[in-house]
Amino acid sequence: MKIEKLLRKNIAALKPYSSARDEYTGEARVFLDANENPFNQPYNRYPDPLQREVKAKVSKLKNIDPGKVFLGNGSDEPIDLLIRAFCEPGTDNIVTIDPTYGMYQVAAEISGIELRKVPLTPDFEFDPKALLETCNAKTKLVFLCSPNNPTGNSLGKNSIVDVLQNFGGLVIVDEAYIDFAPGKTLLSDLDNYSNLVVLQTFSKAWGMAGIRLGMAFASPEIIAVLNKIKYPYNLNILTQQKALELLNQNEQVEEWVGLLIEEREKMAKKLQKLPFVVQVYPSDANFLLVKMYDARGIYEYLADNGIIVRDRSKVNLCDNSLRITIGSESENKILLKALKNLIS
Ligand SMILES: *Cc1c(COP(=O)(O)O)cnc(C)c1O
Repeated sequence: MKIEKLLRKNIAALKPYSSARDEYTGEARVFLDANENPFNQPYNRYPDPLQREVKAKVSKLKNIDPGKVFLGNGSDEPIDLLIRAFCEPGTDNIVTIDPTYGMYQVAAEISGIELRKVPLTPDFEFDPKALLETCNAKTKLVFLCSPNNPTGNSLGKNSIVDVLQNFGGLVIVDEAYIDFAPGKTLLSDLDNYSNLVVLQTFSKAWGMAGIRLGMAFASPEIIAVLNKIKYPYNLNILTQQKALELLNQNEQVEEWVGLLIEEREKMAKKLQKLPFVVQVYPSDANFLLVKMYDARGIYEYLADNGIIVRDRSKVNLCDNSLRITIGSESENKILLKALKNLIS
């Protein structure tokens, strides 16, 4: 696959901004090249634009060459950058499943890119044939979210591979919830498919939504495109420092994930027993999609009691459904107690 041919012409021709820290990367006695203030160390200095230290740790953790790693201000940054790099406003389009994560649509609309939706089946599976038929010569990107938000299920690996093999543009697989899923990440398939981009994030399993750190994994050619158009210093010093600290706590993360999966299964069983619950959908993520008889009424009742969940009733295939994040054991108990109070 020729990345150069898929790119927007203006991006292919673009000469990127060269920052002081791009032009000189080594150690020195005195840095007088970036108009920084000599006081207030260490925050006076611009951060490493390519986040080499953090990338080295991420690449070790994920067993991926650092040249195949991009770090962004949340996964939302690479989502936006991919659309801006590859899709010509007013001409090109992207294709997603429906329902799915809302940022693909928002990012597309901001950039003036048409978004084509392929409905999932009632059991939230996707039909690769229908998806491929929705693509045309102007389709540059396909976004597949697995496990999917807000449905919670993983997409079939064979279906994803079908799209990877038969679509001529990039296939972005958003694995924000992969740590909670029994299925494997597609990271090990990067070498097999030059059009694959895998997104992961530190916002969910890693418990770092507040520091804004997302990851994109792809061929070095695709990573180079993202680096070319990103803000020069897209990850600040505080985020990079905190990430380095937390990347040493891998075992802690595994413990959290284990606890949350246990809680998820417990909550699914208990919620299913409530008389106003129609169905708790199977979940490979850290949330449950729950269909109820009067989702809006229950949403409002919970909110009145200081418990906020996400009302997804207006979303296709999710009528009367609430998306409930799995919290700590005590938070989950508070939710269950409030719901049980509705019965008696
Ligand atoms: C939460 C979530 C993300 C994470 O976004 P960040 O910008 O990294 O916080 C990405 N994709 C999906 C589908 C999500 O639900």
